[in-house]
Amino acid sequence: MLGPDLKAALMAEGASHVGYADVRPLPSPLRYDMPVGVSIVVALDPVAVAGVRHGPGKRYQAERARADALLARLTARAADGLKACGHLAAELPVPPSDVDTFIGSRLLPHKTVAAAAGLGWIGKCDALVTREFGSAVRPRTLLTDAPLPPAAPLLESSCGECRACADACPVAAPSGRNWRFLLPRCEFFDADACRRGTRQVARRHGLSDLVCGMCIGACPYTTMYLARACE
Ligand code: SF4
Ligand code: SF4
Repeated sequence: MLGPDLKAALMAEGASHVGYADVRPLPSPLRYDMPVGVSIVVALDPVAVAGVRHGPGKRYQAERARADALLARLTARAADGLKACGHLAAELPVPPSDVDTFIGSRLLPHKTVAAAAGLGWIGKCDALVTREFGSAVRPRTLLTDAPLPPAAPLLESSCGECRACADACPVAAPSGRNWRFLLPRCEFFDADACRRGTRQVARRHGLSDLVCGMCIGACPYTTMYLARACE
């Protein structure tokens, strides 16, 4: 199950986007010495995302959990398929919450591989932004030595002058500066402030998980997705 077959199988089972990335420009230990990243993206249900710009609710929390469970199944399925064809396949570790995805230089972020696979860019709020679903998405990564054809990477942000996520953030975690590929996160985003803000927001909204998402809900690419879904 390689190339188009793998992509088609994952899309048929619920993936919203699947892309292949040449990850060799990334540090070798972060990618387990593998040359190719398979990025799998699942879009969140627009009904669950509606209103999150004003604060998350239990429905949003549950929808993220649904998407993560689906991603776990899809990633395992892809790994099994690649291994059955005689290739190596390794999943990146899965942090349990958005906050824990704010990882430093020891782990490779899923969103970085998604950008390398051309599926989106990293917004000013440090979330993956896709043209079709905005940042109402959850990404996951498989690393492999299979000769999958890589897409052109997205190396620059398409946020432009937009500041909607920065204005929506209760703790001003986004600096307003645009991301570009491999720009250190600390140069455009304050992850400590976001961790703090996420805790505050989750507590205020009575959520057990560390969930915020106000920036995600405010993103115009997300709101265009929600508007299209309501048509
Ligand atoms: S605190 Fe909330 S709004 Fe601010 S960046 Fe973090 S997740 Fe986004
Ligand atoms: S709200 Fe604007 S600046 Fe923030 S990620 Fe979305 S497009 Fe980029």
